Amino acid sequence: MNKDRIVSRFIDYVKISSPSYKEADFAKVLKKDMEELGFEVIVDNAGEKAGSNTGNLIGFLKGNKDVDPIMFCAHMDTVTPCENIEPIIEDGIIKSKGNTILSADDKAGIIGILEGIRYIKENNIPHGDIEVVFTICEEVGLYGSKYLDYSNIKSKMAFVLDASGDIGGVNVQGPAQTQIHAKFHGKAAHAGLSPEKGINAIQVASKAINKMNLLRIDEETTANVGIIRGGTATNIVADYAEMELEARSLKEEKLEKQVAHMVEAMENAAKEFGAEVVIEVKHAYPTFSLDKDEPILNIIKTAMEKINITYKPNTTGGGSDTNILNSKGVKAATLGVGMFNAHSVNEYIGVDDLIKLSKLVASIIESH
Ligand SMILES: [Zn+2]
Repeated sequence: MNKDRIVSRFIDYVKISSPSYKEADFAKVLKKDMEELGFEVIVDNAGEKAGSNTGNLIGFLKGNKDVDPIMFCAHMDTVTPCENIEPIIEDGIIKSKGNTILSADDKAGIIGILEGIRYIKENNIPHGDIEVVFTICEEVGLYGSKYLDYSNIKSKMAFVLDASGDIGGVNVQGPAQTQIHAKFHGKAAHAGLSPEKGINAIQVASKAINKMNLLRIDEETTANVGIIRGGTATNIVADYAEMELEARSLKEEKLEKQVAHMVEAMENAAKEFGAEVVIEVKHAYPTFSLDKDEPILNIIKTAMEKINITYKPNTTGGGSDTNILNSKGVKAATLGVGMFNAHSVNEYIGVDDLIKLSKLVASIIESH
């Protein structure tokens, strides 16, 4: 592995700002880099559907070994603050100056994929057909993978390089998530002169919350009230309040039950106070779960063994492109890329881990 090249390319990539919906500048650079590696690259139309200034990049590299095609996937978009990222390398650790994210999430994944493949090419190692998908708008709702044109995809398995934590960690199952947005309409009145004429929407919302089972529901299910807003002044009975909630579960039926319970608590509270509640329920992403002996996991295990990485299967509490790929019939697992403190200005990754990740990608290709 070419350490200097890996680090300098990573530095180049993190310096190109690519927040969700604005991945075009970065996509342009990646497309060129993929083409230099011998990929045929198309930009799909997911951008129009998601509201981004580019679509997903779908790259195809023809193989010279008779095995099924495999996909590597990472996302191009990042969370904020991501303008003018100034990476610093100190004692083998790459971090930002402290005023922005580093964007190792998910540019480390992208580097691992491209450098792993570059190693395979440079050393003339035989490989099957390889697809590389770099998605948009992962951070804001997995829109890239949701709107990906699957008619262009040949692979039946996908290695998604996007998990926080040590290399060796592999997310083999993850929860489904549902988002709930509720708007409570009460009735305004003067809080001092005639409060009895009003219906306090904040009170209705709080009664609903009070009746809800929240946070850890069971070992597979969670629920949370994340945002609450309402009211205008202390001397007015609040006629409006709204809240945003979510629930997650590794079992779809448990998720449905929890969501029904939350909706019921809000409807009952509204009824009790004579208020009105409008509830919007959105299924954000489905659950995924891979069998212990799923072929993709065997490839990962073999690839890790060869380069002395300890395989650690995990259950994640979050959602990623992996959830969507699995629901579309592409068996996918999320691999740890060695990044830590993602989504914060304290995000960092080790230089050694960037190299190890590239090695892992090369080893996966060789092990298949
Ligand atoms: Zn990510």
